[in-house]
Order: sequence, then structure tokens, then C-alpha cells
Amino acid sequence: MSDLSVELTAPNGVKYTQPTGLWINNEWVKSKSGEKITSINPTDEKEIVSVYAAGPEDVDLAVAAARKAFKDPAWRDMATTGRGELMYRFATLIEQHKETLATIETWDNGKPYSVALNEDLAEVVSTLKYYAGFADKVHGQVIDTTPAKLAYTIREPLGVCGQIIPWNYPLLMAAWKLGPALCTGNTIVLKAAEQTPLSILYLANLIKEVGFPPGVINILNGEGRKAGAALASHLGVDKIAFTGSTTTGREIMKMAAINLKNITLETGGKSPLLIFDDCDLDQAVKWAHIGIMYNQGQVCSATSRILVQEGVYEKFVSAFKEYVSTTSKVGDPFADDTFQGPQVTKAQYERVLSYIESGKHEGATLVSGGEAHKDVGGKGFFIAPTIFSDVKDTMKIFREEVFGPFVVVSSFKTEEEAISRANDTTYGLGSAVFTQNITKAHRVARNIEAGMVWINSSNDSDMRIPFGGVKMSGIGRELGEAGLEAYTNKKAVHVNLGTVL
Ligand code: ADP
Ligand code: MG
Repeated sequence: MSDLSVELTAPNGVKYTQPTGLWINNEWVKSKSGEKITSINPTDEKEIVSVYAAGPEDVDLAVAAARKAFKDPAWRDMATTGRGELMYRFATLIEQHKETLATIETWDNGKPYSVALNEDLAEVVSTLKYYAGFADKVHGQVIDTTPAKLAYTIREPLGVCGQIIPWNYPLLMAAWKLGPALCTGNTIVLKAAEQTPLSILYLANLIKEVGFPPGVINILNGEGRKAGAALASHLGVDKIAFTGSTTTGREIMKMAAINLKNITLETGGKSPLLIFDDCDLDQAVKWAHIGIMYNQGQVCSATSRILVQEGVYEKFVSAFKEYVSTTSKVGDPFADDTFQGPQVTKAQYERVLSYIESGKHEGATLVSGGEAHKDVGGKGFFIAPTIFSDVKDTMKIFREEVFGPFVVVSSFKTEEEAISRANDTTYGLGSAVFTQNITKAHRVARNIEAGMVWINSSNDSDMRIPFGGVKMSGIGRELGEAGLEAYTNKKAVHVNLGTVL
């Protein structure tokens, strides 16, 4: 497989074999057109390697392989417990390769290695194990009607599932989607984001080793507008699960309409974090920091709009500034003490910088950051963690998703005002509330228009708990038992027992 893989040495000295092909039917192949995409290291802006990019013809082949696998007794009729064991072995094998996978993730994406290893990879493994456990616990119901009718439901897989994943958590978003789809017996064509094509290819190599039948999991790289669009509009695909921007989500929904595909969309957000006078301020500061600065601020559910009650506003702003300056160390993602690496691409870096300009221009108060961070060898897409205060609701930086280490802070007077301003957005993904008053905490949780509310924390998501949004933040849920709904049909079986009639 000489021209379908290359030997690489990562910046941390890890040597490994990087696949560069398309993974179709348990084999590496080139793209029909020969087209490639080049992966860039966001830390030094150098090219890492080029990999094959799928076009419509390759998508056709992958979908055909997935369709064949869906009908193949080797997969379709596999005992559910066996399916779970296969998934568990997959998780275990990933665990054995976690250092290499985390290395690739950091190299290609820019996230700190400690985060890639101890958080992303740990969650990949636990998510697959969690869903492995569900494989033999998904079943239908018997429904009582009359003595003359037996009725029951069967939970069936949907069929061929297209999964389009983003670049902020390449492996983890793959695990969130593979887990529930596999344990319910679907087959998959997964497309990684063109910004971060590498780690998923290394993962693909493990699929055959685990023993998944050919065609059950197919993995493609390729551009969204080509490979992604071909998948979303493919007549042979039964479902599209997408994580990414709201704009792209709308496009995908339109394309999926061609054959009324089942869809799950997890899109953008501008999630509010409400801090009341009666909160534990140290906790609020700590979680406000995690809520927006973690993963370079590239988190769809990041709590990027902080609303603080006027009694603690000044105190919060100065404590938050201090905490960010001591905790958010920007640097080489392979260095142990780095909290924040580079933004994933030049485009994202420029996007964040343009919002910084907008905040300055619109007259918000710059508390810290507000510029590129140039101390990491003078290269790379680094941004100084940026806080704007005194931000008005009409400002662009209050309304639009920035997707970077960039947060806006504003003050409020009453609970009613806080809720109405928190909800004054087209998004509804995450939200957080800080108060020591339990009645208020739960009342606010009910009144916030969001798929998720964190009380006295932010973004400590968990694979056992549903994740997803309302309004323009998405459709459907991932994770938890709710995640299974997105990958099964309920078939109703009516049995006539009315022989006396
Ligand atoms: P971003 O704008 O942050 O890069 P996107 O939502 O565009 O995020 O990308 C998320 C995923 O969606 C990626 O895998 C990307 O290739 C894919 N994608 C982008 N545009 C399209 C499209 N028009 N059709 C299908 N997939 C797309
Ligand atoms: Mg890259």
C-alpha cells in the first residue's frame, strides 16, 4: 500500500504510518479523480501530508458498499451481543493506539496534546464502550389493545447512514456518531472535515483488525461542497447526521429533502452563561473560563455570552480577567503547560480577528487579548484570549457565533431581564446559570430556550446525557439513550388473533 500510506514523524517524535486513501469496503483506495487535500499544521503553518479526497463517484462506491453490508447476513443477522462485543473490541483497540491517535489529532488540529489524550481519546473510548453496552438492550414493546389483536414494535436500523463531522473534535465527533449507529445495526459512510483529515484515517485501519465486515464502516475525506454534498443528496443514503455550522446545516437539510432522509443536525450556538449576585463567584469564574476558552473556544456549545447581575459585575470582570491571564497559557500544543493552542486554520484565525476588530469598532470595552499571539516562533494561528465587557445586545459580537477564545460580558438587573436577553437569539444549544438559590436555579433552567442547561458549571458534557439544541442550533439529540432514537425506526406489527370474528 505504498502510495496509500506514508511514514511520518510527528513533532513530539512519535513515528507512525499515516494512511492517505479512502477507506471503502475495508480496503484503502485512491479517489477516482486522483484529487487530494493537504493537511496543514496550524502551529507552524507547514504542510503535513496530502490525502485522497472523495468526489461523487467515490461516494457512490462507498454508499454501494454500505448498502451491500447492510443486507449482508454477516452484519444484519449478527447476534446483538456479538455486535456489542465487536464494538467493545474496537474501543479497546483504540485505547491501545491512543497515544498515536492523540498525537495526530494535536498535529493536525492544534489542540493541546494533554487534552487530545486525556479528554478526547478517553471520551472516544468510553463513548464506544457505552454504546457497545446498548447493542443487546435496544428492543421494542408489546402494546395492549384487545384480545383480538397482538401488537408489537421492532426497533430497526435505518439503513445506510451518512455522517458528516467537523474539525473541532475529529475523533470524538466520529465516536458520537459511530457508537449509536453501529450498536443499532446501521452501516456508515463517514466524511471527515477537510481541515482535519488525518486522525480518522488512522482509526480506519483499526476497523478491519477488529473484525467489522466489509462495508459496515466506510471513511472518506473530501470537501464539504463535493463529497459532503454528494452524500447529503445521495438517493442511496437513508440518514444524514451532521455536526457543523448552522449555514451548512441548512444546506444539508435542503439536500436531504431529495429522498426525505432522516436527519440529525447539531449546529451553531451563542450560548448564554448567567451569573446572579448570589452565586459562588470563584466557581462562576472558573467555569466561565472553561466554558469559553477550552479547545481554543472551538466548541459549538461554548458559553460565549456572559450576563452578570450588576451587584457582582465589576468584581466578576476583574476576577475573570485575572483568572484568564493566569490559566489560559497560549503555546505549542505539544508543550505540557499549554492550555490553548492555535486556531485550526488560517480562515478561522482571520475570522476571530475580524470579530475582534468589530468589537473594537462597535465600542465594546476590551478587557484583555484583542490581538494575535505571536510568541510561538512567530508562526501559527494563535489568538490571545479575548474578553470584551460592556457589550450591547445589538453588537455583532453579542449576536454572532465567533468560535474562538473570545467572550462578551454584559450586565443585567433582574432575573426577568436576564432570561429575556439570554433567549434573544436564533440559537438554543447550551446555557449555564450560577446561583446558590436552588429555586431560582431550576426556574431559570426551565425558562431558558436551550437544549442543555448547566447549573453551576459549563460544558461538562457526558456521554450518558443527551446533547443537542433547539431553534437554529439543531434537530435531534446525540449521546445518552436519546442518541439511539436517531438511528432506529419503530416498526409496528399488527397480529390478528380475532379468529372468532
Ligand atoms: P466550518 O464552516 O466551521 O468549516 P462546516 O459546517 O462548513 O463548518 O463543516 C462541517 C462539515 O460539513 C465538514 O465535514 C464539511 O466538509 C462539511 N460540509 C461543508 N459544506 C458542506 C456542504 N455544502 N454539503 C455537505 N457537507 C458540507
Ligand atoms: Mg490541519
